[in-house]
Amino acid sequence: MSKSKKRSWAEPYKIKMVEPVRITQPEERERALKEAGYNTFLLRSDDVYIDLLTDSGTSAMSDRQWAGLMMGDESYAGSSNFYHLEDAIRKYYGYKHIVPTHQGRAAEHIISQILINEGDYVPGNMYFTTTRLHQELAGGTFVDVIIDEAHDPENEHPFKADIDLNKLEDLIKDKGADRIPYVCVATTVNMAGGQPISMKNLKEVRALTQKYGIPIIHDMTRVAENAFFIKDREDGYSHLSIAEIVKEICSLTDGATMSAKKDALVNIGGFLAVNDEELFDKARNMVVVYEGLHTYGGMAGRDMEALAIGIKESVEYDHIRARVGQVQYLGDKLIDMGVPVVRPIGSHGVFLDAKKILPHLTQDQLPAQSLAAAIYLDSGVRAMERGIVSSGRNRVTGEHNYPNLEMVRLTVPRRVYTQAHMDVVAESVEAVFHEADKISGLRFVYEPEYLRFFQSRFEII
Ligand SMILES: *Cc1c(COP(=O)(O)O)cnc(C)c1O
Repeated sequence: MSKSKKRSWAEPYKIKMVEPVRITQPEERERALKEAGYNTFLLRSDDVYIDLLTDSGTSAMSDRQWAGLMMGDESYAGSSNFYHLEDAIRKYYGYKHIVPTHQGRAAEHIISQILINEGDYVPGNMYFTTTRLHQELAGGTFVDVIIDEAHDPENEHPFKADIDLNKLEDLIKDKGADRIPYVCVATTVNMAGGQPISMKNLKEVRALTQKYGIPIIHDMTRVAENAFFIKDREDGYSHLSIAEIVKEICSLTDGATMSAKKDALVNIGGFLAVNDEELFDKARNMVVVYEGLHTYGGMAGRDMEALAIGIKESVEYDHIRARVGQVQYLGDKLIDMGVPVVRPIGSHGVFLDAKKILPHLTQDQLPAQSLAAAIYLDSGVRAMERGIVSSGRNRVTGEHNYPNLEMVRLTVPRRVYTQAHMDVVAESVEAVFHEADKISGLRFVYEPEYLRFFQSRFEII
């Protein structure tokens, strides 16, 4: 194709309803931040201008999904929307049995309680906060078997979520296959910066685990975004559709937990999917205790309908290209400005390297938490800490975990903001970056026991 024929990506939709956002004054933000204990999770959304806290449940639904809400069948049992959802999951993901849950962590709770015994080890390609906690609460110990490159923010490896087969096999040999109930494979890896796993690596993990009779449970929260990177970067996949790649990924695993609030384009929802009959039976037994009947599991009928439609939309090429394209746009802009970010740019957000931006702070002074607070103060843009605070404490020693990656995540909701919003975000981050030496560290004044990043409060040192 000649240069003159180049076409940029653009949003494959137009806007028919708008939600005004409020632009606040610096004094208001200072007050709001103090009241929130310098934790962006504790801000009121009314005080936020551009909300890049998370891409979870914050996406804009399509007119088709909204129409689906009107088709909600709120029968207690056997809602037609459940069967639509079941059909969509079987068609697009290929898993046999599904158990709906109110969101991803509920599915993690159920699978962890069923499969993990006290003293077991659960390998995974880096941890996720809720996933690891549910493994621990079930008596398991999470073991990180991701490739070393994933812990290096500057390494440009195209598939930083790949599993290190030696680390995995060493663990199996050391602990014994019967102490490893499953391997947890995430597509994409959130805590590594939204990085994908390659199909080649997943196939190798499959072959290795099959040798030892260990199943794979797939954290498929961002599977469509992972599939986009496979199509874009991996040899032999450019001619396949996103839908075909997604299905191939799922076919290499035995079951999945899904937070439908991410790729599947709904504001609430999730599910557990498994192929094994016996496992399904156990999960169906548990869901009625913790979530609701097995044909709604904590979701309204209308939400299951919106999810069934969202799953279909999530694997459309034009959608996913624009979604990832917008994140790349923001990332490339920040790279051009010289701001240290995790490379390559991930699928759902841009991760700022807080250690590099605030070299005058030690990790105990919570650089990423401090940086997120400073960005909010500058512009009303809300980001999230993904560093020492999110990483929590060691379950045995009680000491802080010290992750190598100390990051602020600028997470882009799907189909919500425009390129002009991304420009404003980049300008604010650039301004904060240039005055970064003036940013003070923070210390805890309140720290809850579980998932402390959500509710902790801080003060300026
Ligand atoms: C969000 C998320 C979860 C948990 O899902 P919730 O819907 O928030 O409960 C699990 N794994 C990953 C990778 C996630 O991003």
